[in-house]
Amino acid sequence: MTGVSVDPDRCTGHGRCYTLAPEVFDADEVGHCVVLVQDVSGDLEPQAVAGEQNCPEQAITLSR
Ligand code: SF4
Repeated sequence: MTGVSVDPDRCTGHGRCYTLAPEVFDADEVGHCVVLVQDVSGDLEPQAVAGEQNCPEQAITLSR
């Protein structure tokens, strides 16, 4: 199980996370990231990693 969190102060809404990992991340009304699944496992884990690695603001933190 991997915990997923987003720092709203760092997120500027590029949208890479919810484009690459739409089952883990979504957008709010202004395009900033919302975490859909706080604890991922199985098939969702690679999606969470893709979002974390592609966020230009390092706003996504995974905790194992
Ligand atoms: S990729 Fe990063 S900056 Fe862009 S919406 Fe997702 S968390 Fe926010």
